[in-house]
Amino acid sequence: MNIVIFGPPGSGKGTQARLLAESFGLIQLSTGDLLREAVAAKTDAGNLASEIMNAGGLVPDETVNAILADRITQKETAMGFIFDGYPRTVQQAKSLDNLLKTKRTSINLVLQLEIGDDVLVNRITGRFTCEACGEGYHDTFKKPKTTGTCDKCGGSHFKRRPDDNELAIQQRLEAYHAATAPIAAFYESSGLVRGVTAENDIELVFKDLKKHVLECAHSASFD
Ligand code: AMP
Repeated sequence: MNIVIFGPPGSGKGTQARLLAESFGLIQLSTGDLLREAVAAKTDAGNLASEIMNAGGLVPDETVNAILADRITQKETAMGFIFDGYPRTVQQAKSLDNLLKTKRTSINLVLQLEIGDDVLVNRITGRFTCEACGEGYHDTFKKPKTTGTCDKCGGSHFKRRPDDNELAIQQRLEAYHAATAPIAAFYESSGLVRGVTAENDIELVFKDLKKHVLECAHSASFD
């Protein structure tokens, strides 16, 4: 089964994608993570993306499509993917359809996280992750049980994203409404979209998402 999860910045895509991947044995592919890796490795794509990302803009479609295509191997295709933060434009959605077609597979479900812009800025500015295992935390909503120690792996180093500042967040929201929200209409024509409110707690959102995944799994058989 192949799933796309999308929603505005701060809606919890990454967290939910990770939970769904663990629950259903899917490979999580986050273009945000792939781009951050490329930036850290100072590849050509990373050097091109770095400034755009810090300013909250969208990296050009060709660059992101190429980075993603590189990561889709035949072995992983058999397990199924959850695409997190990709596609972010209708052009990317078309490119993904074509790519999956060459692997004789397709998107089976599109999960849309719905949340008001007003809630998002607070959510994003307080978030940080464990450097060792990537577990996500928040200054207000999800503090580590012991201050300074990761609940999951015991790590003691945390990091914040350079684009989690108010100016970049406004740009990211604009990019979302202008370029990404229209992918709902693109997938709607195939009846693949299921909306879930993302304003609830992580566990409740996860429960709602899981219900849609199970329904999808029961309504079709996947290779
Ligand atoms: P994310 O981790 O998904 O919030 O992505 C962080 C940043 O990476 C975004 O604000 C964009 O600058 C860039 N990015 C990630 N995915 C894409 C994509 N599919 N298309 C264009 N830019 C992307």
